[in-house]
Amino acid sequence: MSLIIKDLHASVQGTEILKGINLEIPKGELHAVMGPNGSGKSTLSKVICGHKDYVVTSGEIWLDGQNLLEMSVDERSRAGVFLAFQYPMEVPGVSNANFLRAALQARMPEGEELSVVDFYKKLYAAMGVLGMDRKLTSRSVNEGFSGGEKKRNEVLQMMLLDPLYAILDETDSGLDIDALRIVSQGVNAMRSPFRSFMVITHYKRLLEYIRPDVVHVLAYGKIVRTGGYELVDELERDGYEFLKNFEEPGK
Ligand code: ADP
Ligand code: MG
Repeated sequence: MSLIIKDLHASVQGTEILKGINLEIPKGELHAVMGPNGSGKSTLSKVICGHKDYVVTSGEIWLDGQNLLEMSVDERSRAGVFLAFQYPMEVPGVSNANFLRAALQARMPEGEELSVVDFYKKLYAAMGVLGMDRKLTSRSVNEGFSGGEKKRNEVLQMMLLDPLYAILDETDSGLDIDALRIVSQGVNAMRSPFRSFMVITHYKRLLEYIRPDVVHVLAYGKIVRTGGYELVDELERDGYEFLKNFEEPGK
């Protein structure tokens, strides 16, 4: 059982960005996706979540045998898909605590009520792990949060929602070294035989803490390399020099 992506093509505003992605993340595994800016990493993550601006033109995505592309955004979320955004949205006028409560409540079966006491217990426990100031619960979602606070807030949402397929899009950018270590601990604590992770990052620093099982390089809308942790060392050393061997389609 796993997340399986087959020959996925997707466009945004009429331009094809993903040009045949093949990727399989078995349950229990954490895969890193690296690659130059503009190669389509965020696009891939948004397509999986069902963002309306990103149009799948062909290909398939399967979640444990369920056809993801036939599911609504809400169904995907209920099935356990979660994306920590590269650029988290600000939601003025909605307190962070209310936002998180509504997100959790929305996941519960019809007629079941989330207990406020249970909610705050979970919330404060997760905030404790992430070293987050409790004052952030009463502030508007991400409004005026520092870069690092926003990224921690994404991981906080992930910890509370307990997803089966977690995608982290450059969650390490904007974090200082201590925050990076803390956030990594949060991610590592969630690793389980039942969960798949896709971690998008540019940096080895994160992957030293969050050891990936498999590393992929996405370039020109395709996965051009797949390997083990040694690929991270190679990229750190040589950069994306090897991409010269891959002709950019259309050029
Ligand atoms: P990465 O995350 O690998 O840096 P993205 O997936 O964000 O790359 O972007 C891939 C390409 O798609 C870029 O050329 C980017 O400008 C374009 N793109 C992504 N989202 C949009 C959008 N909403 N509107 C227009 N172009 C977009
Ligand atoms: Mg991106």
